[in-house]
Amino acid sequence: MILVLLGAPGVGKGTQAQLISKEFSIPQISTGDILRKEVKEESELGKKAKTFMDSGGLVPDDVIVDMMEKRIKESDCANGFILDGFPRTIAQADALDKMLEKNNLKLDSAILVDVAQDKIVERLTGRRVCEKCGAVYHIKNNPPKKEGICDLCGGKLIQRDDDKEEIVLNRLKIYEELTQPLIAYYSEKNKLKKVDGVGAIEDIFKRVKAVL
Ligand code: AMP
Repeated sequence: MILVLLGAPGVGKGTQAQLISKEFSIPQISTGDILRKEVKEESELGKKAKTFMDSGGLVPDDVIVDMMEKRIKESDCANGFILDGFPRTIAQADALDKMLEKNNLKLDSAILVDVAQDKIVERLTGRRVCEKCGAVYHIKNNPPKKEGICDLCGGKLIQRDDDKEEIVLNRLKIYEELTQPLIAYYSEKNKLKKVDGVGAIEDIFKRVKAVL
């Protein structure tokens, strides 16, 4: 099964991708997570990506497409994968189509996790992630058992620099301009499945499973 998860930053794509990954035993490929790891390791790719990420802007399409072309060829992708945070532009979506075609693969669905804009800022600025394992929490909606500590691995929970309010507003603007057109793109291809992204994580996941 090959899936794309669509939605504004902060709608809970990553959380749903983690659940889908577990349920269907396919890897979650998060471009944001891959890029953050590269930045931490100060690799060539990381250095290239950092300035764009710090401002809340998008890393150039060719860099991302190159990175994804390599990633989907890895052995853990043999039975499918979930793309979380990619594609983010029409050019990336076209590149994904070509990539899949070249490898004799087909996209099953693009799932849109739908949340009204005004709820998103609160969600993003309240988000905390484990610096060790990447698990995602929210100070109000999904707090860890012990404040600041990851339930899963005991790692420290931190706020991503790009979850600070000013950067969040820029990320949302870019989402509207560049990524939102993908909704029509996948709708025209009859691949779009829209899921209400408001409510408890388990309830949203039930909705996701129902459309798959
Ligand atoms: P995310 O964790 O998905 O919100 O991604 C964090 C940041 O990584 C974004 O704000 C972008 O700067 C960059 N990024 C992630 N995925 C992509 C992508 N598909 N295209 C361009 N930039 C990306």
